[in-house]
Amino acid sequence: MLKWKAIGVSEGLARAKALVIQEEDLTVVKNTVTDVAAEQQRILAAVEKAKQQIQALCDEAKQNIGESEAEIFGAHLLMLSDPDFVEGMTDYVSDEKVCAEYACFVNCENFQAMFRAMDNEYMQARAADIGDISKRVLKNLKGIGDNALDTITEPCILIANDLTPSDTAKIGGKPVVGFITRIGGRTSHSAIMARSMGVPAVAGAGDRLDDIANGDELLLDGTTGEVIIQPDEETIAAFEQKKKSEDARRAMLAQFKEREGATSDGHRVVIEGNIGTPDDAVRVAELGGEGVGLFRSEFLFMDRSDLPSEEEQFAAYKKACQTMEGKPVIIRTLDIGGDKEVPALGLEKEQNPFLGYRAIRVCLNQTDLFMTQLRALLRAAKYGDLRIMFPMISSIEEIRNAKQVLRQAKDLLAAEGAAFNPDVKIGIMVEIPVAAVCADMLAKEVDFFSIGTNDLIQYSCAVDRINEKISYLYRPLHPGVLRLIRMTAKAANENGIEVGVCGEMAGTPGMAPVLCGLGVTNLSMSASAMLAAKADLAAHSFAECRELAEKLLAAASATEAEQIFAAWRA
Ligand code: PEP
Ligand code: MG
Repeated sequence: MLKWKAIGVSEGLARAKALVIQEEDLTVVKNTVTDVAAEQQRILAAVEKAKQQIQALCDEAKQNIGESEAEIFGAHLLMLSDPDFVEGMTDYVSDEKVCAEYACFVNCENFQAMFRAMDNEYMQARAADIGDISKRVLKNLKGIGDNALDTITEPCILIANDLTPSDTAKIGGKPVVGFITRIGGRTSHSAIMARSMGVPAVAGAGDRLDDIANGDELLLDGTTGEVIIQPDEETIAAFEQKKKSEDARRAMLAQFKEREGATSDGHRVVIEGNIGTPDDAVRVAELGGEGVGLFRSEFLFMDRSDLPSEEEQFAAYKKACQTMEGKPVIIRTLDIGGDKEVPALGLEKEQNPFLGYRAIRVCLNQTDLFMTQLRALLRAAKYGDLRIMFPMISSIEEIRNAKQVLRQAKDLLAAEGAAFNPDVKIGIMVEIPVAAVCADMLAKEVDFFSIGTNDLIQYSCAVDRINEKISYLYRPLHPGVLRLIRMTAKAANENGIEVGVCGEMAGTPGMAPVLCGLGVTNLSMSASAMLAAKADLAAHSFAECRELAEKLLAAASATEAEQIFAAWRA
């Protein structure tokens, strides 16, 4: 038996066998060859196999998802059948006398460069498709089989370096009861997805992950981050006991489903859910969410090689509104960059992606992209209380420029005679320290604030939110962070606008009373955290929450604040 602790990122207990997802080694070495014909034959065979694989995926997609989703595979088949594409590889082998793998790599780079240089957004986006099909050919050349994720049938706990959003999406519907990743932390996107799916997860395990072999029996606690490998009978019995009491606690929390979020003396704090897809809203509604406080719209743009059209976005936003039946649905405009990639945009890799070309900065520069989204949002706003939120705001000009594009979107829709709602509320994410410091000025420009503590902590403490080596510096209770939240909430309160928190801090056990005491009016979190947040609030009066917040604000250090918080929770 072996036991260790990493970062608990999605609460809950899980017991199952380990399924280790191997990293695919797609590195390519430039080897010279003498038998050119044999190497060319390998290419033709790998391409043929790729065609069969894609045809199978296409048939499966047609049956399980729909004709339009299957179209992308049809496009991939066409590309693979293009003689120029295949000859690009075989000719390179005969010209340069290099191995098939290297020819595949060079051919991919050449074709991608050609597509990226085209003066047409649609064609530029095809570069990602070239990447996809070349990867498939390369995997066939290297004899790398399908990802183990595709073939899960037994209950298991996944062990992986990290899980991409497409990996996590594949988990849906499969008997995956938990997962453990080498990298990441509470705010990495695989963790966020785990919480919205209600799957217990532990991240940031580092080299300890190598202790786990395929098929090992595992116990996982997604709250404490504890992992036990090959437990003995006694440990299993204790674990099962713990699971029983957790089930009892869940049953107790069920009473809060129908209740509004409020302190024991009735001070209201609206409890809402965070979602990444319109389907996630179903769980938010089922678990008594009073709205959607954050719809991360970028998830509609990730893990695909094209951009979602206005119609597709409209359908997704409309569905979320309809699911929430008139309750507020805050949809954040595209927030890409940082650890979220949108292949279709072909953005360059940056030295400091979290500080770079991301979110509103991209949208204000690529206004076509922004306009498409705003049009879809305004049209979907006819189906509920849809509100639009701009991310990564650092200045008043950005708000005014974003509102200007929104006005243009309304004018265009009106001129076309389209059905839309012009009276949507507009808000901003307060997640850059200067926005918190200038909150009194920004509050005059918008209808609501939502504090993104994931980024606010990252930027104010200068600590990369996904680097587990420095996760000890990522301290939500740092008095400096609390002061920034207080400052923002005060400005919102004084200007009569709502102020939410939609970062992971909102759903962290025990934090609801702290944030309420700081003046926050709305809390948005993963659906699985909502009931506990309501229970935490209901256990205290507003005066108690304020008193706690004052004590934490006055702490001399994060450590002191954490001690005050722990003593208060005990
Ligand atoms: C945040 O920064 O707190 C937030 C909610 O946004 P994201 O995690 O998507 O950056
Ligand atoms: Mg953010």
